[in-house]
Amino acid sequence: MALVNEHFLKLPGSYLFSDIAKKVNTFKITHPRQRLIRLGIGDVTRPLPAACIEAMHKAVDEMADAATFHGYGPEQGYDFLTEAIIKNDYAPRGIHFSTSEIFISDGAKSDTGNIGELLRWDNSMGITDPVYPVYVDSNIMCGRSGVLGEDGKWSNVTYLPCTAENQFVPALPDHRVDLIYLCYPNNPTGTTLTHDQLKKWVDYALENDTLLVFDAAYEAYIHEDNVPHSIYEIRGAKKVAIEIRSFSKTAGFTGVRCGYTVVPKELTAATLTGERIPLNQLWNRRQCTKFNGTSYITQRAAEAIYTPEGKQQVKENIEYYMTNARTMKTELEAAGLTVYGGVNSPYIWLQTPDGTGSWKFFEQMLYNANVVGTPGVGFGPSGEGYIRLTAFGTHEDCQEAMQRIRQWLR
Ligand SMILES: *Cc1c(COP(=O)(O)O)cnc(C)c1O
Repeated sequence: MALVNEHFLKLPGSYLFSDIAKKVNTFKITHPRQRLIRLGIGDVTRPLPAACIEAMHKAVDEMADAATFHGYGPEQGYDFLTEAIIKNDYAPRGIHFSTSEIFISDGAKSDTGNIGELLRWDNSMGITDPVYPVYVDSNIMCGRSGVLGEDGKWSNVTYLPCTAENQFVPALPDHRVDLIYLCYPNNPTGTTLTHDQLKKWVDYALENDTLLVFDAAYEAYIHEDNVPHSIYEIRGAKKVAIEIRSFSKTAGFTGVRCGYTVVPKELTAATLTGERIPLNQLWNRRQCTKFNGTSYITQRAAEAIYTPEGKQQVKENIEYYMTNARTMKTELEAAGLTVYGGVNSPYIWLQTPDGTGSWKFFEQMLYNANVVGTPGVGFGPSGEGYIRLTAFGTHEDCQEAMQRIRQWLR
């Protein structure tokens, strides 16, 4: 008899998006003539940059000829891509890596979810709240998060609330935690940390021997100068942090699948007897055993993001979404609402008026403005009283949605 990993049975059902779908379907059946505008989805809509398409076509042709065919590639990724990453994403900021410190992946979700395999199941962990659900769920799966309390919180998880009260800047834990996930610019709040605010976390990690997993999936959306693009801009971070990036939100790769993870050589974790083990070695071993690399065609497409044309095209796509974000922020504020984010990220975090619950406001907006958002409470207990709106749609839809919301709230 095969016994199941019972930790999986503790996972709360992922009801958020199916609950939204149910409510939206009910609305559609009762209001068949109304056109809904969806500002809830976290997926991009602009096509791939032309430079990436061109690179993929070329790579496909190479695959058609025995002389240029590529079979299994290095599990860690091809040097042409890791070198482009080092040269473009890090060297200009004074950060230096060797190719063996960069691991090409099939996206940030896999690596944020899998990285915990390197650590014992009984480490303590911390997350900002609200947050991208993968961090907690992947730790539930190995039993690291403990048991679920009636307050919706896991016993071995330290929750670091991010709300309007602390301007979405989480306070350092008042005790030591082994593993902390940070995501900046943040999904879902759209907020960021300044250099000094992030430095406090690196200093905390250095002092407490804490491992930081820094998810920078939205790095390309940063517009303000004092917001770090990489955690390694902070002195000492190479000793304590893994950085995870993705081409999904940067260059429209959500359906193509490519990202990368940085595991610096200096980064170590301890055995029970106190020996320090480089995590780079362990991650390399893990990847070589369980991952056979991202496809050659995909890595060529990702490399093209770093060409002059690629950079320009990526910038245009991001500006397209950020124009939406600006429209949303301006219009929602004009409608008397309080909103956060939207400056260094494609997400607007709307505070519901008069303390209305997330789900109640979601329904009000659905029925009165025919606009779909995502209830903030779906991202964690501290998301209650907020709604996430995304800037990933068309200009036309975005403008119309804002007009409808203003009309409704007039
Ligand atoms: C979208 C998203 C990811 C996942 O990116 P993929 O590379 O497509 O797997 C990771 N982290 C955050 C915070 C995201 O919003």
